[in-house]
Amino acid sequence: MAQRIYNFSAGPAALPHSVLQKVQKELLNYDNTGMSVMELSHRSAAFTQIINTATALIKELMQVPDNYKIIFVQGGASVHFALAPMNFANNKNADYADTGLWSYKAIKEAQKLIKVNTITTSRNDNYSFIPQIHKENISKQADYVHITTNNTIYGTQYTDVPDTGNVALIADMSSDILSKTYDISKFGMVYAGAQKNIGPSGFSICIIREDLLVRCPDDIPSIFNYKTIADNDSLYNTPPTFGIYVCGLVLQWLKEQGGVSTMEQINREKSALLYDFLDNSKLFKATILPPYRSIMNIPFTSGTESIDAQFVSNAEANGLKQLKGHRTVGGMRASIYNAMPLEGVKALIDFMKRFEMENQ
Ligand SMILES: *Cc1c(COP(=O)(O)O)cnc(C)c1O
Repeated sequence: MAQRIYNFSAGPAALPHSVLQKVQKELLNYDNTGMSVMELSHRSAAFTQIINTATALIKELMQVPDNYKIIFVQGGASVHFALAPMNFANNKNADYADTGLWSYKAIKEAQKLIKVNTITTSRNDNYSFIPQIHKENISKQADYVHITTNNTIYGTQYTDVPDTGNVALIADMSSDILSKTYDISKFGMVYAGAQKNIGPSGFSICIIREDLLVRCPDDIPSIFNYKTIADNDSLYNTPPTFGIYVCGLVLQWLKEQGGVSTMEQINREKSALLYDFLDNSKLFKATILPPYRSIMNIPFTSGTESIDAQFVSNAEANGLKQLKGHRTVGGMRASIYNAMPLEGVKALIDFMKRFEMENQ
């Protein structure tokens, strides 16, 4: 069997090794059912326990207050670019912060349904920083304010959750959910695609404040209605059962690591090591300035396209995979989500040191 490598992919991303081993062990016979999880009825006792446990672990690990519903929704984060305006924009009006390609896509999709006010943007500066949201700039008629907490492609991240007053804050947390502590009570809804910090691709998790669920209009198709999904405990139709099962194992693993605050410390240590190296390197540099740096996605470059290409290909050959930057940005990007161990980051830095010496 080929050796496992260090996978720096932005998503679908690395999963904890022990979780994959558990999946393998249980694949043919889950918990003495004589069946694979994939073959279990979504209404069976065994699956009910799987989804209830996963939900309880999200609530516990993220300290979700009691007045929030946690649901599993089919489709990735992009589904919510449409569902959020469909469900929550009763005045057909919302404010968006434009901080990267994903927030821009969220805006473009919302514009098909409602009036969007882009209240802040760093688009003309290549999304190199997080522009502030000033409370006084929030539109009076806005049904909600939408942000992207971590910009996966550009490697920028909010340090503080913006204060939007009485206007509900909706956050795409796809690439930093469960990586650091967040005060969920500051949000109306948080959503995240699974394939970065949660599990396999194909579904998303939403955490929705109950007073927002009341807004969901009756006249949208049920399958797109958050309230319908919530009222049916994510079982309005057949949910992505296997993904939810893996998600539960990842959450259990996270709990065993010490929970989100311990994981945040590890993530801060990992990212600090890499940024320190980049800031002192003669060959490589980080593309984002310190106040805006993400602890999850770290873009960097040598400044020379051919050297970058050589680096990516040599790194691949040395078991450090998927370091090529996003096609719209170029250079390199190391995505170091929860499942990337400290040793993986150290291995990357050691390799970069060697590459630097050979390329002086
Ligand atoms: C990956 C990502 C998405 C897209 O997720 P899909 O599951 O492919 O729809 C959206 N937003 C952010 C911040 C992401 O990182």
